[in-house]
Amino acid sequence: MAVRLDGKKISSDIEQEIAAEVKELIARGMRPPHLAAVLVGDDGPSRTYVRNKMKACEVVGFRSSLIKLPEDISEQELIARIEDLNRDDEVDGYIVQLPLPEHISVEHIIDIIDPKKDVDGFTPSNFGKIDQEHHSLLPATPMGVMELLKRYRIETRGKHCVVVGKSHIVGMPMGILLAGPGDATVTICHIYTRDLATHTRMADILVVAVGKPNLITADMVKEGVVVIDVGINRVPDGTKKKGYALRGDVDFEGVEPKASYITPVPGGVGPMTIASLIINTLEAYKKRHGLL
Ligand code: NAD
Repeated sequence: MAVRLDGKKISSDIEQEIAAEVKELIARGMRPPHLAAVLVGDDGPSRTYVRNKMKACEVVGFRSSLIKLPEDISEQELIARIEDLNRDDEVDGYIVQLPLPEHISVEHIIDIIDPKKDVDGFTPSNFGKIDQEHHSLLPATPMGVMELLKRYRIETRGKHCVVVGKSHIVGMPMGILLAGPGDATVTICHIYTRDLATHTRMADILVVAVGKPNLITADMVKEGVVVIDVGINRVPDGTKKKGYALRGDVDFEGVEPKASYITPVPGGVGPMTIASLIINTLEAYKKRHGLL
């Protein structure tokens, strides 16, 4: 039976480490790091994600601000609010929670985020530096996956890593991190990949970031595979109070007996993404204050 990669525990360890650093900074008379979050509209999952990010700030002793904006805000107004955050010396890092309403171009918004405050690691400038030794702020979810592998001492060097999904925020940067600093051989699969199972069966480490429950089944993986399930899907479940359960992209019950390690959903990659945001905010803060 596979070892479950406990992202909740590891992220909590990271938060304790950061809380201790923040205490020291404050003891030296400095202000706490400050993370802001921009939430546009009323998307249920987005509200939950942002709430969890704000909670983590509280745990580590960061200041946090939530900027809630209406669904019908114009792109120009949103840009103006983001430019305010870029200018605000009291804000070290901020996130713009995705998805945005359809009338707003995600690309335009990401383009104006100050890379020094881009703690999600979404901007082209930070993306372009992923593979550099002196990289800037790394994309939060792939960074969280790398940290999870590292803390469980799962070697990536020389391994064949298969990433399913090639989004700008997860799949593509994941592939670059694994092939670059991770020294792995990487295959990136996506919606147009022919015969997905042929590729996934070759994986020593399989990272799935698609958004389709049960896309990966037991017959699609080899014995001993390490499975990282990034997907978060709400599936109807009458036994739950909320009427739904959270599932990943992997058929957990089917795949777990064949895997050596596997992330649960929830409690795997999700908390690691939040831990990465906290790490990135502290790094942005230190750079602002000349501490790095
Ligand atoms: P996205 O929709 O931007 O990208 C999905 C990718 O999956 C695309 O590259 C597409 O080509 C590929 N794809 C779609 N159908 C496929 C199929 N049948 N076979 C192979 N590939 C297919 O999604 P995203 O933003 O990368 O998010 C992916 C999933 O990860 C979602 O469930 C999202 O909620 C979740 N997510 C989780 C975290 C976390 O912290 N755990 C963070 C970000 C995203």
